[in-house]
Amino acid sequence: MTAWETVIGLEVHCELATETKLFCGCRNDFGAEPNTYVCPVCLGLPGSLPVLNERAVEFALRVGEALHCDVPAESIFHRKNYFYPDMPKNFQISQYDEPVCGNGWLTVGERRIGIERAHLEEDTGKTSHVGGGGGRIHGADHSLVDYNRAGVPLLEIVSKPDLRSPDEARAYVAELRSVLEAIGVSDVKMEEGSLRVDANISLRPQGSDKLGTRAEIKNMNSLRSLARALEYEAERQAERLEAGEPVIQETRHWDEEAGRTHSLRSKEESHDYRYFPEPDLVPLLPSEEWREQVRAGMPEMPSVRKARLMSSWGISEVDAGVLVGTPGLADYAEAAVAAAPAGAGRDVANWVTGDLMAHLKESGAAPSALPLSPGGLAELVKLVADGTLSRPLAKEVLAAALGGAGGGSPGAIVAERGLAQVSDEGALAAAVQAVLDAHSAEVERYRGGDDKDRKKLRGFFMGKVMAEMKGKGNPQVLNRLLDEALAGS
Ligand SMILES: [Zn+2]
Repeated sequence: MTAWETVIGLEVHCELATETKLFCGCRNDFGAEPNTYVCPVCLGLPGSLPVLNERAVEFALRVGEALHCDVPAESIFHRKNYFYPDMPKNFQISQYDEPVCGNGWLTVGERRIGIERAHLEEDTGKTSHVGGGGGRIHGADHSLVDYNRAGVPLLEIVSKPDLRSPDEARAYVAELRSVLEAIGVSDVKMEEGSLRVDANISLRPQGSDKLGTRAEIKNMNSLRSLARALEYEAERQAERLEAGEPVIQETRHWDEEAGRTHSLRSKEESHDYRYFPEPDLVPLLPSEEWREQVRAGMPEMPSVRKARLMSSWGISEVDAGVLVGTPGLADYAEAAVAAAPAGAGRDVANWVTGDLMAHLKESGAAPSALPLSPGGLAELVKLVADGTLSRPLAKEVLAAALGGAGGGSPGAIVAERGLAQVSDEGALAAAVQAVLDAHSAEVERYRGGDDKDRKKLRGFFMGKVMAEMKGKGNPQVLNRLLDEALAGS
């Protein structure tokens, strides 16, 4: 049996969050009525001329900075010719051998992953195959096309074939996503297609430095499906190679439901596209001044932010990784900490990476869309710190606030439901005494029992007292009072 090494390179298509499209003034917005953001330019009507969006170029320059790329003094656009109904011009304006960014890197864990290039191009429209009549296209009756997305600016970021496992590929996309989010060039929503990943994967005998024949995998809509698809594909290729059959260079489609890839078409070569320089656009010449401006405006990178949160809040690398690696989550937590009493970083991080994260996963909501604002979370942390809420009660209040109760205000929920924790010694002592009086036989056994009996009975008393207090007794005070009462007369 040969030991195989997995070799993966990724192409990440990132929709840039500009106000308008790449070559016209149509709005760049997700979710509008189909075919409402269109004009002669993005519909490819005769005689229309493209004008390059300056903001899109600025975003590309930012990505170039973040990924340590070379930015050549001149880059140009090409026409990539092919027919597909979602592309009204019958060609796509893209970049070919002179892209805006080349030769950079991104650190993933301990390894530096090479970036081959990043180039600007326009997105295509979106086709939906509808009806279940068993027709020729994916079993559909007919297809609908929406050109709102046609002409939206994309930056295609191509890695070198430096990734060595599905897990590493997943970590690379997660890190890249954090970077793109941090530098404000994209909303990075994989579920809305703002970030799309194609993967090239091949195997070679361990120790070889020659690349094997690769397959390109498409249609992975989440980090999880990326890892699953690559695992499946690595296994499929290994089986073929073990059996002495060649891997075919082709494009394969990931079927999420079936959990397998299947052949889509043989892989095109770049000469199939008959690239030629776009005659309607001048070369792109970003000035040194402009690049300096972009450099000066670069925000904190995720890896730096992670280290800062770990040291200033005293939280683990895992928790800091969750905060920085989940779109919008670190911003949310930092806003909560700013509104909370001093030194609350760790508490806030615990709530955010625990209960809040579980809610986000379940609901699919973005942190910014939660009914509980960062200020609301700060309020909750304060209510625990000043003894108004025990931790179990705070969990209850948090769940209610996340469900939209009390207008998302923990203080209002506590007041409405009478949830405040009871710390009053008189009331707590009376509850302890009532329970001990009602269970004198158990008290007798406790006093004469061994450690094991005592531990068991103590838990029994505590449960009864808490029930007496309807779950609202301050546990610290109760523990002390119970110990005193059991030790005493
Ligand atoms: Zn347009």
